[in-house]
This record gives sequence, C-alpha cells and structure tokens, in this order.
Amino acid sequence: MARFDNLIGGEWVEGAGTTANVNPSDIEDIVGDYASSDASAVDAAVEAARAAFPAWAGASPQVRHDVLEAAGAKIMARKDELGRLLSREEGKTLAEGTGEVIRAAQIFKFFAGEALRPGGEALPSVRPGIEVLIEREAVGVVGLITPWNFPIAIPAWKAAPALAFGNCVVMKPAELTPGCAWEIANILKESGCPDGVFNLVLGPGSRIGARMVEHPGIDAISFTGSVPTGRRIGVQCVETGKKVQLEMGGKNPMVVLDDADLGVAVAASLNGAFFSTGQRCTASSRLIVTAGIHDAFVEKLTADAAALKVGDALDPETQIGPVVNQDQLDQNLAYVALAKEEGCEVSGGDIANGPGYFQRPAVFAGADNTMRVSREEIFGPAASVIKVADYDEALAIANDTEFGLSSGICTTSLKHASHFRRHAEAGMVMVNLPTAGVDYHVPFGGRKGSSYGPREQGTYAREFYTQVKTTYVAP
Ligand code: NAD
Repeated sequence: MARFDNLIGGEWVEGAGTTANVNPSDIEDIVGDYASSDASAVDAAVEAARAAFPAWAGASPQVRHDVLEAAGAKIMARKDELGRLLSREEGKTLAEGTGEVIRAAQIFKFFAGEALRPGGEALPSVRPGIEVLIEREAVGVVGLITPWNFPIAIPAWKAAPALAFGNCVVMKPAELTPGCAWEIANILKESGCPDGVFNLVLGPGSRIGARMVEHPGIDAISFTGSVPTGRRIGVQCVETGKKVQLEMGGKNPMVVLDDADLGVAVAASLNGAFFSTGQRCTASSRLIVTAGIHDAFVEKLTADAAALKVGDALDPETQIGPVVNQDQLDQNLAYVALAKEEGCEVSGGDIANGPGYFQRPAVFAGADNTMRVSREEIFGPAASVIKVADYDEALAIANDTEFGLSSGICTTSLKHASHFRRHAEAGMVMVNLPTAGVDYHVPFGGRKGSSYGPREQGTYAREFYTQVKTTYVAP
C-alpha cells in the first residue's frame, strides 16, 4: 500500500502513524495510507515556515506568480487523474470530482494574477506637503484547516491567496480526504515553491488542528468546517491574538413562488438539495413553497429525486455518489427517522444496497420550520419541504434560522426577486439557480452563524491574507 507523508521544510516526513484513506463507494478499496502525525510535526512545520517567511514575503511578485501559475497548469493537466482520486476518496461523482479539480486549477491561476496586484493607495495628507501611503503586507505564517467535502477546492482557495500575498502556510486537511491536499503539496513543490513556504501536516483535528490554533508561531487561522469546531477555534484565536476566518455550516432556504417555472424550480432544488450527496455547506435543505404550486412541486420533486441514480462515484452513470462514511450515514438515517417522528411525509432516504455508504435522496414533505429536521444542518441528501401562504411568509421563514450562508428564490416576478435579494439574510443570493454552485472570482461567505471574518475568494481574499500599513512621508 502506498504511503503518503507530511511535507515539512521541503522534505517528505513520516508521521507517528498512518490512517487508511477509504473509498466510500467500496470500503474494501483503500486509496492509500496517509500520515497520522503528532503535535511535534506542527512545531517542525511552523519552524520551517517562519524560517522561509522573510524571503518569500520579500520575493518579487513575479516569483510568486510563476509558482502559482505553474501549479494551476499542472493541476489542469492532471484533471482526469486528480478528479478520479477526488471521487475515490470523497465519493462525489466523476463529473463533480473533475469539475472540482478544474476549479482548483482556475483558482491557482486567478491568484497567480492577484500576486501582481496586491493593491495599495497613495493619498495627500490633510497636513500640507505630507504624503500618505497605504500598503498591504503579508500576515506571516497562516494555518489552513479544511473539511472533507471539497478536498481540493477549499485547500486551493485558501492556499493560493495565502501564497500569492507572501504568506507561508501550514495546511491540515480533513483526515477523511487527505489525498487531494497531498497532491497540492506535491504539485507546489514541483512548481518551484521554496522549501518551508508550503507545509502539509496530516492527522486528526484534535491533535494537529488544536496544536495549530494554540501555536504562537502561527499568525492567522483560516478554518472551514462545522459550527462547534469553528466557534471553539474562534475563541482560541482571539485568546492567542491570531487573525481568524471561519466558514461553517448552513441551513439554506430555497423559496419557490406560485409564479415560478416548475421545471426550473424543481431542477434547481434537486441540484441544490441532493447533488454532491447533499454534502455541501450551501445545500438547499429547506424548500419553502407557496400554496399554489406546492402540490405539483412536491409531486415532481419526489418523482425526480427517486429517479436519480445512486451508486459508485466512479461509474459514469451515477448521479448521486455515496455518503462519506458510516458515521455520516448513521447520522443521516437518524434524521430520516426523526423526520417521521416529527410528522413529515418521508419519501426516499433509505439505504441503497452496495459495497459503499449509499443512501437514496430523502424528501421531508409536510415539514414546518420549527422541526429539528428544518433547523439543524444534516449534511446529507435530505431536504424539508415547508408549505407557506405567500411571499411574505416565505421570506420570514427563509430568514428564520441561525445560519446565513446562501439563500435562493425561484420566481418569474422581478418585484419579488428584487425584494428577496435585498432582504435575504445571507451572504449569497441565487435567483432561479441552486443555492449551491458559485464562481471563483467573486466573494464567498455568509452571515449570522455561518461565517466569521473577511470573505474568501476573488479579490476579497486579500482582506484576510494581507495586513495594512499606513506610512506618512514628509519631504
Ligand atoms: P469538522 O469541523 O469536523 O472538521 C473541519 C476541520 O477541522 C478538519 O480538518 C478537522 O480535522 C479539524 N478539526 C477538528 N477538530 C479540531 C480542533 N479541535 N481544532 C482544530 N481543528 C479541528 O467539519 P467536517 O465534518 O470536516 O466538514 C463538514 C462541515 O463543514 C459542515 O458543517 C459544513 O457545512 C462545513 N463546510 C462549510 C463550508 C463553508 O464555506 N461555509 C464549506 C464546506 C463545508
């Protein structure tokens, strides 16, 4: 079995032990043995990153551009092979896995350009003859902690801007899906990234992530993952004086109004709720439907969901791959049972036979917004359908959640679409589109309990990965 180590100071370094990376479509299939490190690996990675920081932060932007551009090109050239790896370790369909790899390549290429455009301003002082310069500098050593559900896109959208603006990186990917992050580390090394600038430490969050958050040599933490872990990390970062950015969960509403195109509304809801096996922070898990279209919507959604082909992620016919592991499957099945107890009419949600963690999409019809299945993030292929009287009630219910990541509406009314865009309490709004599925050159992030700190992606990523210096110059 192939063994995959940590990358520390430009060297491949064995961990204290290893963890098997298991294919959720076929649990007999082991992708590889990946390092399971102890906290001393973090200490070594931080030391290497600190040593590399002055030269990297001071390097010509062209140097950083060239590394990121080369990494983007190498990822793109290997999109089919890496897409297969992603689908094999995470369980997304091949089309979704390959699409995510292409996205990672595009992100590296975008931030190659951003390395040349750090921004800055020159202003006249209010005092005569004095000039004011506002410049952006690297933050230092940044710790990047990523979840399992986007194993290459999220590492890319954190690492690329971090490196573009002159920071050194210690990255810890999720233990369930370390393969894609390992490939990013290898590709960056092959692309000429200097030793110590990008370090990868593999292992459990309780050891590796926790040490990163407490380590005095790390200046900033960017975290994506669950709400409880994120909140704890936020508190610890404030206590240890670190800059922090948290992207956490969602319970994203999709409003469907009577005047919606039924085909558009069902297609957007089906995609938003069930594609990627519902394992997206932007998944449409609350479908809020006005009375006039409700019955036709439920009938078509239920039929279309039942027709989706659930199976091996590597089978090109598959539309819904497996759930990521047994724990997540058990949790999803418990929510299906809870939906029945809470009085929903449940279609699907049962186990589909096979060598992996296959579950059919679940529609919880007859739900209301007070039920636990409508309030808690399930993170599986399940959606509540909540019937409402009119647009005003739909908007109120859409906003009645502790989360605020993405929010969608299907309507042919410009008036309602515009009103919703202005009043949805979410970081992202989708009109006649699924709540999931975003571009890489514009900001990504949420409000309320979903996110904390500056936005990720696009030019807005600069806010987190740089710090501002104001200089006054007298003649
Ligand atoms: P998780 O919180 O369990 O783990 C996320 C990362 O944190 C992993 O690398 C984990 O090892 C690490 N970690 C765990 N305990 C830690 C600790 N004590 N200290 C430091 N690090 C620790 O989340 P997950 O199960 O991997 O991912 C699913 C969650 O991620 C869902 O809630 C989903 O909504 C969220 N998510 C959010 C976004 C977003 O951008 N808002 C995107 C994708 C996923």
